[in-house]
Amino acid sequence: MSLYGREAMAFFDKLKEADAGNGKCVDCGANSPLWASLSYGTYFCLECSGVHRNLGVHISFVRSLNMDSWSEQQQQRMTCGGNTAFRQYLRQCGMPEELQSGGGQFAGCESQAEGAIRQKYNTRSAAAYRAWLAERSRGEGGAPAPPSVPYEPPPPPPPPTGCNGGAGGGAAGAGVRGASGCGSSSAGRMMQGFGS
Ligand SMILES: [Zn+2]
Repeated sequence: MSLYGREAMAFFDKLKEADAGNGKCVDCGANSPLWASLSYGTYFCLECSGVHRNLGVHISFVRSLNMDSWSEQQQQRMTCGGNTAFRQYLRQCGMPEELQSGGGQFAGCESQAEGAIRQKYNTRSAAAYRAWLAERSRGEGGAPAPPSVPYEPPPPPPPPTGCNGGAGGGAAGAGVRGASGCGSSSAGRMMQGFGS
């Protein structure tokens, strides 16, 4: 039976009893997330859900906990998933902790947070988990645990837009440049953290 609205929320409350990690955004730690990715069986906040949508459905299939209906198959997927399991898996794969919680930078610089989330999900590790969860939740006798795929940084993303006023005197960037703490220095930190 498909679940919707209050019934869906009751279902997710049960899953949260089993995994308290579901009560916080898997990407930034915000409380009481209301969005989920079927691809990973994880939960995240509104801000992070926007980034997930931008990743494309092949990377992350986003649903609202209380505004979408949840089929039995989708419920099964979420039951097999959970925030804690996913985070543990990525840690096991060797994903840097700052990348795991990189979305927490939303308070500071949105494009930086978006960059961290993009890098986290565009990895072979994340892809392996996605494939495992899909197989497992279909009841096709998938392995009880996802195969550990060592973390490798994905190729560098295109330069962030919006937070960086640009290299020089572009007049159009004038409004953006006022946002302190969110300029080219943060882009530089990212290069150091994730480059080469
Ligand atoms: Zn979040």
